[in-house]
Amino acid sequence: MTSRIATLQQSLPFFEWYGTSPHQERGGQPGVVDLLFGNPHDMPIPAYVEALQRHALPQHPGWFAYMFDDEGATGTAADGLRRHTGMDWDADDIAMTNGGWGAIAVGIRALVEPGDEVIYYDPPWFFYDLLIRGAEATPVTLRLEPPRFSPDPAALAAAITPRTRAVLLNTPHNPTGRILDDAELDAVAEVLRAASDRHGRPIYLLSDEAYRLIALDGRRAPSPAEHYERTLVLYSYGKQLLAPGQRIGYLALSPRIPAEERAGLREAVRIAQFVNSFSWPNALLQRALPDIADLVIDIPTLERRRDRLVPALAELGYEPTTPEGTFYVLARSPIEDDIAFAARLAEDDVFVLPGTTINLPGWFRISLTASDEMIEASIERFAAAREPVRA
Ligand code: PMP
Repeated sequence: MTSRIATLQQSLPFFEWYGTSPHQERGGQPGVVDLLFGNPHDMPIPAYVEALQRHALPQHPGWFAYMFDDEGATGTAADGLRRHTGMDWDADDIAMTNGGWGAIAVGIRALVEPGDEVIYYDPPWFFYDLLIRGAEATPVTLRLEPPRFSPDPAALAAAITPRTRAVLLNTPHNPTGRILDDAELDAVAEVLRAASDRHGRPIYLLSDEAYRLIALDGRRAPSPAEHYERTLVLYSYGKQLLAPGQRIGYLALSPRIPAEERAGLREAVRIAQFVNSFSWPNALLQRALPDIADLVIDIPTLERRRDRLVPALAELGYEPTTPEGTFYVLARSPIEDDIAFAARLAEDDVFVLPGTTINLPGWFRISLTASDEMIEASIERFAAAREPVRA
């Protein structure tokens, strides 16, 4: 292994753990309670499947030709952003990407010089660190502290240096389930504006909004773009459709970025799309997007599972979070070593994500995309796993 790849490997504590997890063999077996990833455990949305079937039938010879940003797809994405934010998004400022993942990678690559700093928050999505380092930038981390997991504006201001190029912010937040409110987003925006002025170099907000439509209890998740001008929205349709293996998402430049600067960024994004190894989605998904972009998994089902599991875990002493958005619940490991506790649960065929893999030792994460049967079956096993601790 080259030293460069070995360094990048250190960015992935998740894979080090997953390599030792029996989930790899046991994952799909009957009776297994799989709460590990945000993967589907029920059949996909029928209208989604029908749309894919329809658009798989070629209507002309070029149906599956190389496809960059398809107008139907970028128009659909711009329309979704307009309806959500009330802002006037330009379809020409949207780059279709290979999921939210592609959008994050392309956004970072388009912005940074080697040695530039990109700030992100712990606990993070697994791959932020890797994607920042992969673009030869330097990650700088700040912590979201329980119970509110809210970004601290003073800590953000203190972390910014003349090399800070971007702040990567995720709301609704995986894994805490927090939706940052208008006041919290305003506070971040104010810090970024002041720091951009102070250093005479714009700081961009990379806004990871993969869960924007997974907002619970009738909430709306405000986009950070509503609060800060220099925002790049990074989106994945994989969460709202719960079809993460079908890769489609986008990067959108805020219409509030000054026009000349935005034109430069468009060009940078296009080049980053190629560098990032043809980061556009497949032709089939781009063609289908106008028919699938308004489909969302059943939110009341997620609420029902949360409202079954969270009080049950609280009763057992796990101190769970109550998510406002996303489909994740965090809970405290009853023993300090969350990896050991995840292994204890795995003995009973319950699979959770130990917090150490996402820089949150002492906690574990549960995904509510498990089936109702799995959620129900988990409760007894969570009770059993706690017994030796209580004794
Ligand atoms: N950001 C966050 C916060 C995520 O949780 C995920 C997926 N787990 C992604 C980005 C990437 O999304 P996708 O795999 O759909 O590209």
